[in-house]
Amino acid sequence: MSTPIQRKIIIVGGGPTGLATALHLARQLPELVDELLVLEAAEHPRPKLCGGGVTFHGEEQLRQLGLSINVPAFVVNKLVFRLGQRDFSVQVPQAMRIIERQLFDAALAQAVQARGITVHSNEKVLDIHPTPEGVGVCTSQGTYQAQVVVGADGANSVVRRKLNLKAEAGVARLLRVLTPVAPEIDGSWQQQTAVFDFSCIQRGIQGYSWDFPCYIAGRPFMNRGIFDSRIAPNQAPKRPHGNLKQTFWEGLAARNVNLDDVQLEGHPVRWFNPQAEFARPHVLLAGDAAGVDPLFAEGISYGMEYGRIVAHQIKQAFSHNDFRFDQYKRALQADQLGHLLRRRAFIAQHLFPYNQPRLYQLIWRLATIAPLALQQTFGAFFGLLPPRWETAVSPSAPVKIGHG
Ligand SMILES: Cc1cc2nc3c(=O)[nH]c(=O)nc-3n(C[C@H](O)[C@H](O)[C@H](O)COP(=O)(O)OP(=O)(O)OC[C@H]3O[C@@H](n4cnc5c(N)ncnc54)[C@H](O)[C@@H]3O)c2cc1C
Repeated sequence: MSTPIQRKIIIVGGGPTGLATALHLARQLPELVDELLVLEAAEHPRPKLCGGGVTFHGEEQLRQLGLSINVPAFVVNKLVFRLGQRDFSVQVPQAMRIIERQLFDAALAQAVQARGITVHSNEKVLDIHPTPEGVGVCTSQGTYQAQVVVGADGANSVVRRKLNLKAEAGVARLLRVLTPVAPEIDGSWQQQTAVFDFSCIQRGIQGYSWDFPCYIAGRPFMNRGIFDSRIAPNQAPKRPHGNLKQTFWEGLAARNVNLDDVQLEGHPVRWFNPQAEFARPHVLLAGDAAGVDPLFAEGISYGMEYGRIVAHQIKQAFSHNDFRFDQYKRALQADQLGHLLRRRAFIAQHLFPYNQPRLYQLIWRLATIAPLALQQTFGAFFGLLPPRWETAVSPSAPVKIGHG
């Protein structure tokens, strides 16, 4: 057997989490850039199933990295939160942009390579095991010996599985379709609106369905999906878990989507469960591999935010020559990331089981008539809306940022 290649730090996975972690590490430990390696199973631009919504929180993560990712995007200025027949909507200029994930991730990967960090594409990690010096990593191309491994390899993390890190509950299911759209007659396009429809909680789905206008290869589409967090225990027999596919299908039919024309795709998202394990000696999990948002399945921004915390942990480890990472979970929980995820989990655990329908409907009604300042305060506290935004902007034609 050939001698393993030595690297101080290996990041498994070149999605937003792994790439942001690499960039944070390059800032916090510039002397180790040559000793840092990102292993990515695919090659950018690679397909990634997603809603493509980058929120103000995601933009903040990019700003912190000094990045401006200029890919084609649909800019959303109005958010609609629906429950049954009732809509609660807020006008928030540039509340989020809807990007095409493969282009967004490829642009991030470019930024990483421009920083001098090595990314190995088409190199899949197959196994990982503790060694006396750190961690051994076996890939489709060879073997490595690392002092630190970051598992940023998504919801089906091979790092989590191979090291048998405790996960318990925490996996949400999502389905998505793309439908072509005529922008000149579509209300969402005209008003630059993203719809979050929570009506499916009435049918035992613990989440929401979404309609996000977007561009795919420069052409107008609607990104439509459904999210089932499964965060609360099954309420059967009173309210058993709903049938996700059937609920989604019926919702699409109600929106006049021709079901014969769409391709249904699904992928899980792991949400942040403080009971889970996030680290082992020499190994840290981040992003979807660790757990992101249980309320909206927002993971692009939170994945990138993990990068800052992980980089700090690794910096501490090298400066104290202590690679146990036994304080990582505490650091996650103490950080604003942990606070926000726990607040969102609180709402998800109470809203999604839908066991007090009248109360929820009342809250929805009150939210609609609440003064702007109150909406803003609540929205910011739960990380749903930016802390400050200007009053409503007039609807205009969809804005396309950059041309990739
Ligand atoms: C249908 C759907 C809609 C979503 N919509 C949104 C949304 O609108 N906004 C939002 O913020 N979030 C959304 N999310 C969540 C978001 O996609 C994820 O949270 C986010 O991609 C997490 O980033 P990550 O880098 O941790 O993982 P990933 O993006 O999954 O990246 C992991 C990377 O690791 C690589 N990899 C995997 N296994 C290996 C291996 N063994 N060896 C080497 N490399 C490996 C993969 O190829 C991939 O590039 C959605 C998710 C789904 C499924």
